[in-house]
Amino acid sequence: MSRYVYDFFEGNKDLKDLLGGKGANLAEMTRMGLPVPPGFTITTDACREFLRTGAMPAGLFDEVEEHLRLVQTRLGKRLGDPADPLLLSVRSGGKFSMPGMMETILDIGLNDATVLGLAGHSGDERFAWDSYRRLIQMFGKTVFGVPGEEFEAELAAARAAADAATDAGLGAPALRDLVAAYKKVFAAHTGRDFPQSPHEQLFSAIGAVFGSWNAERAVLYRRQERIPQDLGTAVNVMAMVFGNRGLHSGSGVAFTRDPATGRRGAYGDYLPNAQGEDVVAGIRNTMVLAELAEIDPKSHAQLLSIMQKLEQRYRDLCDIEFTIEDGTLWMLQTRVGKRTPAAAFVIAAQLAEEGLITLDEALQRVTGEQLANLMFPSFDTAAAPQPLTTGVPASPGAAVGAIVFDSAAAAAATGPVILVRRETNPDDLPGMIAAQGILTSRGGKTSHAAVVARGMGKTCVCGADELEIDAAAGTLTIAGRVMHAGDVVSIDGASGHVYAGPVPVRPSSVVRYFEGELSPLGDPLLAAVQRLMTHADHVARLGVHANADTGADARRAHRFGATGIGLCRTEHMFLGDRRELVERLILATTDAEREAALAALLPLQRDDFVDLFAAMDGRPVTVRLIDPPLHEFLPPLDELTARVSRAEALGQDPGDDVRLLAAVRRMHEQNPMLGLRGVRLGLVVPGLFAMQVRAVAEAAAARLAAGGDPRPEIMVPLVGAVQELEIVRTEAVRVLAEVPGAPPIPIGTMIEVPRAALTAHQIAMSADFFSFGTNDLTQMTWGFSRDDVEGAFFGRYLDLGVFGASPFETLDRLGVGELVRIAVERGRAARPGLPTGVCGEHGGDPASIRFFHEAGLTYVSCSPFRVPVARLEAGRAAT
Ligand code: ADP
Ligand code: MG
Ligand code: MG
Repeated sequence: MSRYVYDFFEGNKDLKDLLGGKGANLAEMTRMGLPVPPGFTITTDACREFLRTGAMPAGLFDEVEEHLRLVQTRLGKRLGDPADPLLLSVRSGGKFSMPGMMETILDIGLNDATVLGLAGHSGDERFAWDSYRRLIQMFGKTVFGVPGEEFEAELAAARAAADAATDAGLGAPALRDLVAAYKKVFAAHTGRDFPQSPHEQLFSAIGAVFGSWNAERAVLYRRQERIPQDLGTAVNVMAMVFGNRGLHSGSGVAFTRDPATGRRGAYGDYLPNAQGEDVVAGIRNTMVLAELAEIDPKSHAQLLSIMQKLEQRYRDLCDIEFTIEDGTLWMLQTRVGKRTPAAAFVIAAQLAEEGLITLDEALQRVTGEQLANLMFPSFDTAAAPQPLTTGVPASPGAAVGAIVFDSAAAAAATGPVILVRRETNPDDLPGMIAAQGILTSRGGKTSHAAVVARGMGKTCVCGADELEIDAAAGTLTIAGRVMHAGDVVSIDGASGHVYAGPVPVRPSSVVRYFEGELSPLGDPLLAAVQRLMTHADHVARLGVHANADTGADARRAHRFGATGIGLCRTEHMFLGDRRELVERLILATTDAEREAALAALLPLQRDDFVDLFAAMDGRPVTVRLIDPPLHEFLPPLDELTARVSRAEALGQDPGDDVRLLAAVRRMHEQNPMLGLRGVRLGLVVPGLFAMQVRAVAEAAAARLAAGGDPRPEIMVPLVGAVQELEIVRTEAVRVLAEVPGAPPIPIGTMIEVPRAALTAHQIAMSADFFSFGTNDLTQMTWGFSRDDVEGAFFGRYLDLGVFGASPFETLDRLGVGELVRIAVERGRAARPGLPTGVCGEHGGDPASIRFFHEAGLTYVSCSPFRVPVARLEAGRAAT
């Protein structure tokens, strides 16, 4: 027979799967000899069995009774003893913390007889009746689903009758009457009397806690937090201790360090003469921990010493719940505490410095996402008012703007706006693009609004369900406060807070540090970032390059720690007033015309490269030859058609427009993504690639002559067959030989067509390096266009769980990742030591970086802003 119940002294902190987080940690504290009220944990196995069959597993009753006897013996008290009853709490606690999502029932064991015993033994009649009425209320709601409002109504009536402003004003007689009224409410709703048997109360409560695993809000929370739905919860049954027994009693919560900043030293709140839940509910003003030292120095000192022991044991920030009953301290809960991104960095660096953890471990205590969060501008919270409400922090940043309720208003607005919607759909895309930020009342981290906003790098708070949006009336109501279109709100994508009015925004100090504007000296956060980044760089095996097309971007990338440029997109050099030269190239009908157009482009490209090579002196700069279809450089068909017909109607000479129009018609493609682009252009348009190669070589020669150390590399896009690459390579080698004073320049290829990955052993014969273009590789492997999917069906796909994250955000390991692995393996088999990089968006995504590390790539390349994130993740992947 399987075993379902463990006493606290039998478990330990590593048994979270079986005992849940709360149970495992209560066991650990018990083992450490800390004062934990006696109790036991019913395993998650029992819960899963209960959820599967709908009935308590066989043998569970007996096991519970047996462990209950142990508790009774140790305390010398008995459940249901009318003279001096033992009371119990029944608490949920799964493997992962789900704050406030599931149920806890306190004061189990009170009935019409024991309430008198409790009153007599404690000498506090009011306390006994108040506990009893709380039990009926909690039990009625949780176990029998009695609507909470009905109890609240009786409570309000009692207060009115007693002329009391708060519950504290109700005396023992009033509370006794309230118990009678509560029992009537209970009976009216359940058709039975409130159970007088403490054992029945206990088992019903256990069943209700099991059942609360599947409560709607719990299911929703797990979906949002990506917690598996099939884990089940454990149930902790423990002796009650009372913080509400007068002024030598009280309850508190504490952290071993400040969870907001990471500052050293215990940090917490204490409420005298109160039960634990009153502290969190904020119904009375709490005192800070230091004040406890004045009213109860002994408990305070004991608490501090316990917190120190907990940190030593867990080697991390811990948070705790404690209660003092008549001068005796009891520990009710601990766990490794949640913290802000800033605190995560500070604490990790501190713990390493204190020798509690190694630097490798410190790297595991922070994430690239946290660093990315710290690199967004934030609100100056000291200057912020109370938030109006808090939603799901879906995409970071700090956005301030006027309320608009639809896309049209957002697009028409002249100043910054916040798009406020119940939820968003693809029709809202233009509004989302125009807005500073997006605020919705429905949906979680995978809702349309959240996914699209993250993709665009826009601030988003979603699922703020206190918002009442009446788009027709143009009003937004939050907790009774009505706002109108045009009123300013501020939304914080890191915390989910929503504020009325503008809140001052301050630039990220971490970014200013990377930029060299702030010194880490005397700033704990910056010092921590510096320490951990240095270690990450030290242990990383994967290099980090940046995608940059201009000297300015390259310089920033360099300051952010990039050790090269993994992708310079040359087509960006063909925009603006150079468009006209590209038009001339396309319209050329003779060799002479074409050569003249190319000759005009050459010096412009060369100067761009000189600037870039100077910015990245001594480090590789990978120049990709032109990739997009040439018609992207021509005016759109409808615009040209209109221009030509307007000129004809006015009897004017349309000039080149007629030829341009013909060219646009000729070059039109049904599916440009799979059309004449990349290497195909190089093979079809004579002289185009040769001009670019010459510009690279001449720029390098000029830098060399000027005493620089240029390290260009030439990269050919969209290759699917080695033959394509061989042709381009032969021509490039010829051009390079014609440029005097040029350094040796490696010629490599992108791997972004699935066929290239599969034939990598052949392609490697002609390539000095590979660089995975994972955007194209993803869209060609899945067969969906990345420009169209986000709005069209990704939201639905995410809801349906086809994938957990967009494959354009996080690399699809199983499919696209397999192609990467195949290409690395086959490429290196043909050419040992072949350098391999990644230059798609995935190069800056933490989960993808881990994969690239595992696949043995040489480097990732990402946007300059993501470089620090990639460095950190490269280090984390290696430890
Ligand atoms: P949550 O996981 O939602 O925090 P808990 O199981 O921690 O729920 O219970 C909520 C509160 O109930 C605790 O913070 C504590 O104050 C109170 N509580 C639970 N068990 C006991 C107990 N044995 N004695 C006194 N108070 C208790
Ligand atoms: Mg708790
Ligand atoms: Mg590509």
